[in-house]
Amino acid sequence: MKILINAGPTRESIDPVRFITNHSSGKMGYALAAAAVKAGHEVTLVSGPVVLAPPAGLKEFISITTAAEMAEVMKKQFPMADLTILCAAVADYRPKRVSEFKLKKLPGGLTLELERTEDIALTLGRMKRTGQLLAGFAAETDDVEQNALKKLKEKNFDWIAANRVGIPGSGFGSDTNTVKLFAADGTVMDLGSELKTLLAERMIRIIASGKNKGEDGN
Ligand code: C5P
Repeated sequence: MKILINAGPTRESIDPVRFITNHSSGKMGYALAAAAVKAGHEVTLVSGPVVLAPPAGLKEFISITTAAEMAEVMKKQFPMADLTILCAAVADYRPKRVSEFKLKKLPGGLTLELERTEDIALTLGRMKRTGQLLAGFAAETDDVEQNALKKLKEKNFDWIAANRVGIPGSGFGSDTNTVKLFAADGTVMDLGSELKTLLAERMIRIIASGKNKGEDGN
């Protein structure tokens, strides 16, 4: 199977030295890419800035910085993929204006005007054709299941992995995660709390063995 995975955070510049980002470490996406390679798939990994080394055996590794760059690469790569897993924590907002010069500190506060970035998952969900599988993550601090199911539908995902963030041992930066998988056909699989590497192997086994197999049958 040809598998496309994105991982890590994006960075949205405020001025030449400052940016807005989030706590994504890229660990879950990199673990998924490594597990997919191990299972014999042809894997392309598109990554925001992280400290991790790309897993060995990838077909292609593409490094990006901003949400706009991530959107451009993903839209180009998506038509070639049998399965796409959206694990990146793409910024939802970016500064409306990027200052050409470093902002000087002045007395009083500072208000930054933000604008929406493209929802890549939504775009890819609309581009999806028969035979392609699209999976995403829902990192939630509350109402995990309800929000995950809403996103599964809205973004035309085949699978969504719901995980809790903001608690120790799960989500951003941690080596472990707590994942529950929901499929568009109503299947629910609780993968529990595990090492991200182990969860990744299970997720690849479940999602990549879906009904829409690549030509090689992997
Ligand atoms: O941000 P949200 O919780 O809606 O993210 C759910 C899914 O959408 C994740 O798989 C994430 O990678 C993806 N996403 C995206 N582009 C965005 C925001 C989120 O592809 N701008």
